[in-house]
Amino acid sequence: MPQQRAAAYLRHGQTPFFRLATAAFHEAGAAAYAGADAVLLGVPWDGSVTYRPGARFAPYELRRVSALVQSFHPGHRIDVFRALNVLDGGNVAFPPFHAESVRDLIQAAVDEVVSAGAVPFVVGGDHSIALPVLRALARHHGPVAVVHVDAHLDTSTSEVWGEPFHHGTPFRNAIDEGLLARGALHQIGIRATWGHPEEGAFAAHAGATMYDMDRIDDDGASAVAAAIAAAVGDAPVYLSFDIDGIDPAFAPGTGTPVPGGLTSREAIQLLRGLAGINLVGMDLVEVCPALDHADMTLHLGAHLLFEGLALLAAKKGSP
Ligand code: MN
Ligand code: MN
Repeated sequence: MPQQRAAAYLRHGQTPFFRLATAAFHEAGAAAYAGADAVLLGVPWDGSVTYRPGARFAPYELRRVSALVQSFHPGHRIDVFRALNVLDGGNVAFPPFHAESVRDLIQAAVDEVVSAGAVPFVVGGDHSIALPVLRALARHHGPVAVVHVDAHLDTSTSEVWGEPFHHGTPFRNAIDEGLLARGALHQIGIRATWGHPEEGAFAAHAGATMYDMDRIDDDGASAVAAAIAAAVGDAPVYLSFDIDGIDPAFAPGTGTPVPGGLTSREAIQLLRGLAGINLVGMDLVEVCPALDHADMTLHLGAHLLFEGLALLAAKKGSP
């Protein structure tokens, strides 16, 4: 489905993601997404952060800036929104008080998208939302490979806060619940300090590969992407993109910034270098509009989502 023309969205005064059509909200369940290749779902939840909140507003602000992204991808040379029928599925609605119910509602919403045969692109919200998304994906695909961009490992335990589910734990829980294929967690941009020396051991024992910033410096983002693409092969891949994987100089609008991260250029190279993977879902999380300057984090976030959609379009268009 093509984008609305710029004049049309200006006339409406409303901006769905990328000026796309919205889902048939009057239809129940998966029928709302009939015929879609991909569905963008907002998840305005930031009740699971350990530091500065505000990511709940990202879906609204990312919709606004995504209007500036046009359909033709200059790298893959493909018209993404003609190659794919992409819908704005609106937001997952919940009272923002009870984290466990919110997780269940996110899982149910993603399940409807996948049941419709569409690939979910989930716009957080904080990183705790990745766990219910992975629960829904694993139900359909079995254990998935995960490409995880982040400053943080996100394999923390309940030891710190007395609570096993928050934005620092989604991948520990996903591993424990068997949602990830063994040896298929690829973590890029990791650089945050650790509380104890064993912090990196849990994921490593589960067969994860860490591409820390020294590895990016040494090999370059394109070579890292090529290594990951070769490693995952045809496996179903979930791309989980925490915006704090990017250096705060390029993406200041996030609640838990860590110096020394990826440039925006490296992030785009990384995602373009994953062409050919079997992408079954993506999230973009931890964008905090209130901490942003001149929408720079938002514009990057919208382009990263577009890069993910372009991977799907290029795969569909390739023989
Ligand atoms: Mn992070
Ligand atoms: Mn994270």
